[in-house]
Amino acid sequence: MTIFNLGSINVDHFYRVPHLPVPGETLAATGYDFGLGGKGANQSVAATKMGSKVVHIGMVGPDASGRDMLAEFGVDVRYVGTDGSVTGNACVYVDGEGENLIVVLPGANHEQSLDLIEGALAEAVPGDHFMLQNEATLGADAARLAKARGCFVVYSAAPFKAGKVAEMLPLADLVVVNDIEAQQLADHLGCDISDLPVPNLIVTHGAKGATWRGAKTFEQPAFPVDPVDTTGAGDCFIGAVVAALDQGRPVPEALRFGVAAAALQVTRPGTAQAMPDRDEVEALLR
Ligand code: ADP
Repeated sequence: MTIFNLGSINVDHFYRVPHLPVPGETLAATGYDFGLGGKGANQSVAATKMGSKVVHIGMVGPDASGRDMLAEFGVDVRYVGTDGSVTGNACVYVDGEGENLIVVLPGANHEQSLDLIEGALAEAVPGDHFMLQNEATLGADAARLAKARGCFVVYSAAPFKAGKVAEMLPLADLVVVNDIEAQQLADHLGCDISDLPVPNLIVTHGAKGATWRGAKTFEQPAFPVDPVDTTGAGDCFIGAVVAALDQGRPVPEALRFGVAAAALQVTRPGTAQAMPDRDEVEALLR
């Protein structure tokens, strides 16, 4: 089967600095690195590394750098367009204590194209998976189209955006959030987390694992590891769970697969480049 992912694509720039800059200061960085980022791109990379066929739908600026990086991971980027703005990007300053300061520009992620969404989803068949997060626009239009094509819609309600709740929740077959986002959703709707009106809900609990609430409830404790960098853990988890579901694994197995993948991911620095592949996850599960 195929996973279609309407998602953000960023190029992240990391600067190591002796201290975080103060207003008016010009500071010499002591190191620099750059990499693929954005929740959408991270999730596409994770699902692809788990052996799934992933069609990413998105938008980058004219230099197309984020699209090329995504393609290098094996993601199908035929429906990633370019527009006249700029590829989404983030500047991340990290000091010697690990404290950070981040500036993000959504750029082309806010310029999604309905034509590209329609083009991609014309290829979808019933039983395919469609995923989206809150960093790209046109999510509700795309989710409606995906449902009409018979896709299972997985909505990662992150980052939390109050304005998206009413239109997105009724379209989702599965909602995935961390503890904080679950509470934000519940507060917004004035209910308990256990009463959120969705057919299936996954709440991730960081080092404590994850819970699936649907027709049945499944709890999966985390795998005990020594984390070095938990950035992108949630994206790795979601990509791996959706890949496992798309490959026909039953819910508790898919949940365990995602928790195992994320455990490996947090033991490595970086986000997209830290995603494990399916063989590594299988080895941990044996
Ligand atoms: P997010 O990155 O979206 O905030 P979480 O922090 O809940 O999401 O992490 C997502 C998943 O990653 C968790 O459900 C867990 O399986 C795994 N994970 C996160 N932190 C750790 C950790 N310290 N040790 C082991 N697994 C972890």
